[in-house]
Amino acid sequence: MDKVLSGKPIAALIKTALKDLIAEQDIKPRMALIQVGSDPAADYYVQNIVSNGSKLGCTVDLDTLSAETSQAELLDRITKANVDPCIHGIMLQKPLPDWIDDTAVGCAITPEKDIDCLNPVNLGKIVLEADSLVPCTPLAVLCTLRYYQIPVQGRHVVIIGRSAIVGKPLANLFLWKKTWANASVTICHSRSQDLTAITQTADILVAALGKPEFVKADMVRNGSVLIDVGINAKNDASGKLAYVGDIDYNSCLDKAASITPVPGGIGSVTSSLLFLNLVKACLLQRGVNKNIDDFIGLIFGA
Ligand code: NAD
Repeated sequence: MDKVLSGKPIAALIKTALKDLIAEQDIKPRMALIQVGSDPAADYYVQNIVSNGSKLGCTVDLDTLSAETSQAELLDRITKANVDPCIHGIMLQKPLPDWIDDTAVGCAITPEKDIDCLNPVNLGKIVLEADSLVPCTPLAVLCTLRYYQIPVQGRHVVIIGRSAIVGKPLANLFLWKKTWANASVTICHSRSQDLTAITQTADILVAALGKPEFVKADMVRNGSVLIDVGINAKNDASGKLAYVGDIDYNSCLDKAASITPVPGGIGSVTSSLLFLNLVKACLLQRGVNKNIDDFIGLIFGA
């Protein structure tokens, strides 16, 4: 088993599969990317999406709204993108200003164009094991395990974090009756008691809590697989800005059978999967339905 689970080869496979599919289906996927205000991290992510789009042959229409944008103005922009037949997917850059209700905005995105999976219809379909647009980060975790051929079926997965975009959908995907899932799942959160006693029982431990280097070696079982979803900005010893995960990589490396690095792990897979969702949405709007298994087959081979 590989010790360090890099996301880079997986991202490359996804991009190749998407380029081939776009050419084969002769489609021109187009995304509306809406950003409210600006900050260095959000600007970086947005530019990354625009540049990935052009490499893949997808158009990304960046709509940058002022930091003072009201909820009504944002909902108006979303409505316009919902009804525009040239737009196949809508992506809303986070964070949004405090006065904007994330749930209301997520509900406003039409489910067929909801490539970041904010609409409750898409989240509900995951619970029902019905095909839908699946949030990119949970899918990135499953693609990583699939690529490195790490068995999931029947194993105990512990997820730290219960957000609607990572922890909850990921827990539900792990429960799907599929050979790449079929896990027993425990979700922990900020009110869980004796977290270490729970995390030590994990065959696969997923950290998605947004706390830099929170998971230490004593929380980890020998020989377990560690998946780090966290991306936290931190000044390194020389005062330079660096990114670290939610797992203390250096202290956990020896105990883990495998571990995803940060950066270069789950995050790099996630950014490619946004375009998988865009392509899926574009095909759906043409009446062509490709489900998760179809995409897994296209990316990794049968
Ligand atoms: P969030 O803040 O919405 O949720 C964090 C969750 O962690 C909450 O459910 C909370 O209960 C739990 N939590 C917080 N402190 C805890 C503690 N001490 N013990 C146990 N549980 C605790 O965060 P999110 O949006 O799910 O993001 C989580 C992390 O993943 C962040 O670092 C974020 O930057 C990162 N992220 C990465 C990607 C990617 O592509 N790799 C995508 C999305 C988010």
